[in-house]
Amino acid sequence: MLMAKKSKTSVQVLIIGGGFGGVRTALQLAKNPENHITLISDKEDFQYYPTLYSSATGHSHLESWAPLGEIFADHTNVDVFIDTIDSIDAVTKSVRGISGTSYSYNTLVVAVGVVTTYFGIPGLETFTYGIKSESEIRKLKQRLFIDIAEKNKLDRNYIVIGAGPTGTELAAALGTYIRRLCKHYGVKSHGVKIHLIEAAPRVLPRSSEMTSRVVENRLRKLGVRVETSKKVEEANAQELIVSGRPIESHTVIWTSGVANNPLFSKHPSIFTLDPRGKVTVDQYFMAHKDIYVIGDNAATPYAGLAQTAIHNADLLAANLIRLAQGKPAKAYKPRLPVSAVPVGSNWAVIEWRFIRIYGFIGGMIRRAADLIGYKDILPLGTSLGAWRAARVYENDYFTPTVKTKKPRR
Ligand SMILES: Cc1cc2nc3c(=O)[nH]c(=O)nc-3n(C[C@H](O)[C@H](O)[C@H](O)COP(=O)(O)OP(=O)(O)OC[C@H]3O[C@@H](n4cnc5c(N)ncnc54)[C@H](O)[C@@H]3O)c2cc1C
Repeated sequence: MLMAKKSKTSVQVLIIGGGFGGVRTALQLAKNPENHITLISDKEDFQYYPTLYSSATGHSHLESWAPLGEIFADHTNVDVFIDTIDSIDAVTKSVRGISGTSYSYNTLVVAVGVVTTYFGIPGLETFTYGIKSESEIRKLKQRLFIDIAEKNKLDRNYIVIGAGPTGTELAAALGTYIRRLCKHYGVKSHGVKIHLIEAAPRVLPRSSEMTSRVVENRLRKLGVRVETSKKVEEANAQELIVSGRPIESHTVIWTSGVANNPLFSKHPSIFTLDPRGKVTVDQYFMAHKDIYVIGDNAATPYAGLAQTAIHNADLLAANLIRLAQGKPAKAYKPRLPVSAVPVGSNWAVIEWRFIRIYGFIGGMIRRAADLIGYKDILPLGTSLGAWRAARVYENDYFTPTVKTKKPRR
């Protein structure tokens, strides 16, 4: 069994999850060289989700992935292990990975993010593409590449399901990407049909009605066929059935549907789940004695956004330090995140309370927000590189991940 290094004065933490919550908690704690952090993640890379739509539509993969080894290269008090944790034992205070390794903890932080769900709709899991990971994006780009570069023909329809922020961003960028690929490979691109299908009566259903209207108009100007109040019923290799109507396509992208990580439901004696399946935590993010849950996994008002995961991580790290110093922890006060949704090149909608900014200025604000987002997690040089990568175009479908310092396995 791997034991965390022992020191009586320092904070000793085992973190599961190399995403926004886990990495940010580790970085905040690592500022004090006395603290020791062990971070376990199932992937070698940190994934910057907000730009996945952009990497999926031809922009450099460097804006969406950064190796964990590079993030922690200068932190000798952080040990990174690549493993998938599948059991937690609160009695022996240890977790076990699918590698067979056990890791003991004094304090455990869990931030393992969400997983995709298809709501049991027949065929979706088999016949649709996703953009939530590098492998999903690779498959989608391969599909586009095979059609356009090898078969020299377009699909009859390109369908994005879900007009939340991810689906909206993707649908807005997809046409430009397909046309660019066509130009590159000498294929006629007129007649590219992009559909955005949404079950709710409007796009961006969680934004204000005015924002939904402005964004829908913008999408239509970009040539996207917006179809709201439409129910996806089935997918097969040739078509998608939407509210009884078949739409011919073999390029259907599913952006709806997330469920909490199954790691929690596997441990009902440790975690209590709310009706949405999120983990019930107290005002200090404690879910069980010495086990904290943050980010997308925790039942907090604004869970589901990177900004919330970072805010959670900052408070949790500060509290763990305060507790080690014998000071009382501070209670969590939820903070309303800013919504910043790009809709096509250099255009975004920004919404926060009653403030709404649409268009080019919105696009600039979103660009600035991405730089801040990178800086919250990545070293300055990597942040600037990732930020600039948004302007770099890749005409192939193959997106190799650049690896530097390797974490331990
Ligand atoms: C396509 C997309 C676009 C988004 N855009 C935005 C945006 O523009 N703005 C915004 O604020 N939010 C955005 N979000 C939401 C945001 O990405 C999440 O809220 C945020 O990532 C949550 O952070 P987290 O640490 O809880 O989980 P994650 O960042 O998902 O991190 C979870 C980590 O745990 C790892 N892991 C999972 N299971 C295990 C296991 N069993 N053992 C070990 N490791 C494991 C995962 O590989 C991952 O590294 C977007 C999400 C998606 C999917």
